[in-house]
Amino acid sequence: MDFELSEELTQLRDSVRRLAQDKVKPRAREIDKTGEYPQDLFEAFRDAGLLALCIPEEFGGAGAGILGLTIAIEEVAKYSNTAALMLLLTRLPTGPIMISGTDYQKGRYLPGIAEGTERCAFGLSEPGAGSDVAGMQTRATPDPNNPGGWILNGTKCWMSGVAQADWYIVFAKTGDPSSRLHSSITGFIVERKWDGVSVPRTDKKMGVRGVDTGELHLQDVVVPKENVLGEVGGFRLVMEGLNAMRPIVAARGLGLAEGALMYATEYVKNRPAFGRTIADFQGIQWEIAKCATEIEAARLLTYRAACLADQGKFTKAYVPQLSMSKYYATEMAVKASGLAVQLLGAAGYMEEHPTELWYRDARQLTIVEGTSQVQLGLIGKGVLAGDLWWD
Ligand SMILES: Cc1cc2nc3c(=O)[nH]c(=O)nc-3n(C[C@H](O)[C@H](O)[C@H](O)COP(=O)(O)OP(=O)(O)OC[C@H]3O[C@@H](n4cnc5c(N)ncnc54)[C@H](O)[C@@H]3O)c2cc1C
Repeated sequence: MDFELSEELTQLRDSVRRLAQDKVKPRAREIDKTGEYPQDLFEAFRDAGLLALCIPEEFGGAGAGILGLTIAIEEVAKYSNTAALMLLLTRLPTGPIMISGTDYQKGRYLPGIAEGTERCAFGLSEPGAGSDVAGMQTRATPDPNNPGGWILNGTKCWMSGVAQADWYIVFAKTGDPSSRLHSSITGFIVERKWDGVSVPRTDKKMGVRGVDTGELHLQDVVVPKENVLGEVGGFRLVMEGLNAMRPIVAARGLGLAEGALMYATEYVKNRPAFGRTIADFQGIQWEIAKCATEIEAARLLTYRAACLADQGKFTKAYVPQLSMSKYYATEMAVKASGLAVQLLGAAGYMEEHPTELWYRDARQLTIVEGTSQVQLGLIGKGVLAGDLWWD
């Protein structure tokens, strides 16, 4: 067992760390204030090859896998969770194609993401179906003019990157609309430029501003058979693939917590009170110690989950370990950012410091891609089934 990063991954971490300090850190506050998409950061990531990290080399990517992307996201999230989300979006919609797509789909859709000539988004949630994905209302009916093709109707919501995306992964009921079986749901790749595809609105969000979330409306959208993802009714495989995303979301929490604790620690070291500094009080040192311990625990869970996912271990048997990384790291980010606000006192509550921004951003992480409660449900089921057992 070796807890050190490989030389390659160390180099990646160091170069992303520099890029995050030089380019992301100075922009974070402004992105939050204006809510404008940070095209400059997208280009900086593209030029540094970061958009290609998780794409296989044969499709123009860097082949750094989920661990490589996890490490890059951790560095970027120390300063901006919006920027971290931009990197995450190179994997969330491409993952299903890498796992269950055809050669045509891989060749058509992956290189553009690696090169930064296209962007993509992932549409599972609907106004009436968030955690309960089987409740989705979006329908796909066979296209009578196009054998093997489908016609999509419905609305997806809260979709990250919806406004910038050139293509989307969307899910629709191909079987009985009232069915709760995964086999009644199919994934499709839908292009923004197709007739009937529109983005009617974007949301006003509490945090992670700059990458919009919003609605994708699908009205009589004609999807050719080449754009059916995997098998018709093959949603189970896609859901399994989502397990591989857990460490990537976890990394957003991990980096945010590291950034927040480092910032607050520097502050208390320099804040005079009662003839010493705030950092001199043992009560404060213990808070820092507890948070640092939880960060390291989250890092171990996250890196292990990323290694498992890179080995293709994201099936049912590995769900507890994968879900733990997402659950623990994102809950820890909420705690750490709250602690940072508290350690700065009134200053931490004000816009002059990034702590209030981190605090708002962190709240997103325990909701997206399987809420904390959903992750706990998965972990609990895994233990009850003996998938995680200790003898
Ligand atoms: C900023 C942001 C970006 C997002 N980006 C995307 C995206 O790109 N693509 C996409 O498809 N979706 C996206 N989402 C949606 C996100 O995936 C959903 O919000 C999430 O799945 C939860 O669904 P919900 O909001 O409908 O909550 P609900 O499912 O209504 O849950 C409400 C509460 O009940 C709890 N709960 C639900 N079921 C159970 C249960 N069985 N046991 C115990 N507690 C339960 C939940 O944990 C939660 O606390 C985004 C959301 C946000 C906030």
